[in-house]
Amino acid sequence: MPANSFSPRLAASFGTLEALTVRHCALPVRRPRDHGSGTVAGNVEVVILELRTSEGVTGWGEASPWAVFTGTAEANAAALERYIAPAVLGRPLAEVPATMAAASRAVVGHPEAKAALETALLDALGQRAGVPVWTLLGGLARERIPLSVSLADPEFAADLDLLNRVREDGVNIVKLKTGVQDHAFDLTRLERLRVDFPGLDLRVDYNQGLAPFDALRRLRDIEAFAVTFIEQPVAAMLTETMAMLATALDTPLLADESVFSSDDMLRAAQNRICDCVSVKIMKTGGLRSALDVAAIAAAAGIAGYGGDMFETGIAHLAGTHMIAAAPNISLGCEFYQASYYLEHDLLDAPFPIEQGHVVVPVAPGLGFAVDRDRLAHNTLAMREVAV
Ligand code: MG
Repeated sequence: MPANSFSPRLAASFGTLEALTVRHCALPVRRPRDHGSGTVAGNVEVVILELRTSEGVTGWGEASPWAVFTGTAEANAAALERYIAPAVLGRPLAEVPATMAAASRAVVGHPEAKAALETALLDALGQRAGVPVWTLLGGLARERIPLSVSLADPEFAADLDLLNRVREDGVNIVKLKTGVQDHAFDLTRLERLRVDFPGLDLRVDYNQGLAPFDALRRLRDIEAFAVTFIEQPVAAMLTETMAMLATALDTPLLADESVFSSDDMLRAAQNRICDCVSVKIMKTGGLRSALDVAAIAAAAGIAGYGGDMFETGIAHLAGTHMIAAAPNISLGCEFYQASYYLEHDLLDAPFPIEQGHVVVPVAPGLGFAVDRDRLAHNTLAMREVAV
């Protein structure tokens, strides 16, 4: 067993990590999505991690990469199988911080793989302790999280169909993906949404899609539609342009691709590049590091938003427990894919959404189990690594 600072009896009393099963999965999606920086069609690929402890507890985690943003599924599967598993197997389940530090030392980058590991650890530890994951993160800051649905269909008519459907379910927040086609198309869609859906909480996300050259002029056009925030208009590396836009615009500017880690968040706050930030466990590499980002943002007066990648309900649940424990993530979340985007989710019950809100689970661990038949059906490759 690796050296650690716990008394062996105390740490071992929750069991040790006995096996990791890494599954590279492909999940069919209902419609193509156009995000400017990358198109998604056919299916999304994720890595599902199954952790088994010496006491027979099973914890689940998910790595949801996007090749143009954080990484790839095959690289995250390799990171878990070849580098992280040998570094963490045999460790006490209770030692989550030390186990995550060991995973970080074993392989650089791959934040999605590390998020999968920490999700599985906290799921198992929560089940072992008989408490939901948010309890392990400091307790409950909110019981429900307002849900935002993203509009990114190449055909706007399909987006309007989706919007009508989610409105019937009580959803009142929409994020329009902009900067993909031309500026006139963005303005036409915003006008239509404002006319047809008055009262909608409307946000836009450029996914770095604007050239800095005339970004300010275009965003002033967008401001006329009273959007709640403008997300990542220019490339992540353009810190000065982000800071200029944040100062010049009345509408809050949200940083996504610009802020992965606590270091990024600290620099973003020092340079005042944003008024709000998208906090994602797939960027930070775990739930506790996501809370760190949210806390640094809070200290700088920067509000948090619960972003995600192309995820199943497993990663949505991890994000939900994290946001449940994060007072500063006040702008809602976008955990809509499991319910409205995937053909089928991997959870054994519907991801919990009521009246346009994600409902924070109260059952131990993540609060849900995985449908093993559906998981097997969607698995492209699988490998188990055991002590
Ligand atoms: Mg974004």
